[in-house]
Amino acid sequence: MYGGDVLLRFNISTAEEAKSLAEASDTLLLDVWEFTDDWVDIRLAQELVPSLLGLLPKSMQRSHVPLLRERELAQAIFDTYPAPREHAHNLQAATAVPLPPNQRPIGPAPQPKGAETNIFFDDYQPLNVIHPWMRLLSSLFTTHVRLVNIGKSAQGRDIPALRIGVHPTNDDDPQPSTRKTVLITAGFHAREWISTSTANYIAYTLITGFGKVPSVTNLLQDFDFVIVPTMNPDGYVYTWETDRLWRKNRQQTTIRFCQGMDLDHSFGFQWDGSSTAGNPCSESYAGESAFEAVEAKALADWALNETSQNNVEFIGLLDLHSYSQQILYPYTYSCNDLAPGLEDLEELGYGLEKAIRRAHGHVYEVLPACEGNVAAASGEKKSYLPQMENRGGSGLDWFYHELHVRWAYQLKLRDRGTYGFLLPKEHIVPTGKEVVDAIMYLGEFLQETYMMREKTDAGESQHAKKEGDESRPAVHEEGEEASRLPSEDSWLLVEDLEPEHQPDLKRRRVR
Ligand SMILES: [Zn+2]
Repeated sequence: MYGGDVLLRFNISTAEEAKSLAEASDTLLLDVWEFTDDWVDIRLAQELVPSLLGLLPKSMQRSHVPLLRERELAQAIFDTYPAPREHAHNLQAATAVPLPPNQRPIGPAPQPKGAETNIFFDDYQPLNVIHPWMRLLSSLFTTHVRLVNIGKSAQGRDIPALRIGVHPTNDDDPQPSTRKTVLITAGFHAREWISTSTANYIAYTLITGFGKVPSVTNLLQDFDFVIVPTMNPDGYVYTWETDRLWRKNRQQTTIRFCQGMDLDHSFGFQWDGSSTAGNPCSESYAGESAFEAVEAKALADWALNETSQNNVEFIGLLDLHSYSQQILYPYTYSCNDLAPGLEDLEELGYGLEKAIRRAHGHVYEVLPACEGNVAAASGEKKSYLPQMENRGGSGLDWFYHELHVRWAYQLKLRDRGTYGFLLPKEHIVPTGKEVVDAIMYLGEFLQETYMMREKTDAGESQHAKKEGDESRPAVHEEGEEASRLPSEDSWLLVEDLEPEHQPDLKRRRVR
């Protein structure tokens, strides 16, 4: 169905250009894939290119390059699906989970390297493989995994999640301490398959690392992780069965032929549906009122209930998206409103970036989400250019502001535009690994912040962290841990923070 489509990257240099491009894509109802301060990627039918150029100023007639030409785009779509023969093995792949030591059946030993060689991650997986796979994990690893349900989608599908962590049973304790929890969400936008595979990879690594990798064991003793790989199951199924590039959910709207709302514009904090009101055909349609999108409402209700009824305190959020390799922190809705705790968010953001860069050399940009979502002029004086879509109602902002999740980020994963949403499956494992490295960094940071202790559990080899020691645990292979060298440059110890952040919070002097 995309045989005649191309993906164009427009380079932006002035406010005028950004404005006319935003207006033109609105007028033609074009599919804007991603945008940064320097460029905007737009997918459109080849025959619409002249119409688009006709709406743009002269300076922009030559400012675009094709990222994917017609046949390439169609081929890239085709390539993200498993090959037919491989597909038949998917369900089998779902059961290729190494059993815990005490449950191993007679037969070949599980692969020592775990996820790296697990064929589940050789391909993107459809919903009817992912959900049984999650059930299987929860039934195999009962000591530290539970399957929970966030709620139902617009079309009535479950939105399952894995709660990973070691629960001390608090039944007898009249005032049990709260369970500090990190929430990891993925698949808000259906076509961002790498977010779903990465969430699965994180879950798998934590689950199978428990009891084997000391840093993972420690982490799961201190915190719970709730991982939701498919926040938009209807949309995800639709990308597998009908339209690979579908973004929104599949909810009925007032216009029969334009279904779907954008979950990430549907949350109730600073919701702003004005720019898409009455226009359900827009790719970023926010609905006619806040929380009209069923899945966004389900997640918010679930999270509020966890907080008020189930003794949970959400301390971290990683909302996984693609693409453009960015680590975004609140706020999304406006660059004029600075998040309280901005400095801390920025510092941890740089820590996550560094963990990723060291793992695989991939560079992620760290910036406030409002900047990730507008085109900003280059040059010394930063002025914000017209936005490419409305920015209110994001999940990131809601969790940060309404649920007081202190460490809240949106991660836009690989790549930077070569394939965009059609990232080849060869990236599933490397992307998973680099984000796991970020998670381990986050975990260590949270331990230092909330547990007020170094990781010193007896019997497990640990890093003795000292001032300036930059070593980070790698969870993939024990041998790798030792080879992580303290690094170079640009980091220094901050002495003047509140006591709870001392002694190990490091900050980077310059951006
Ligand atoms: Zn997204």
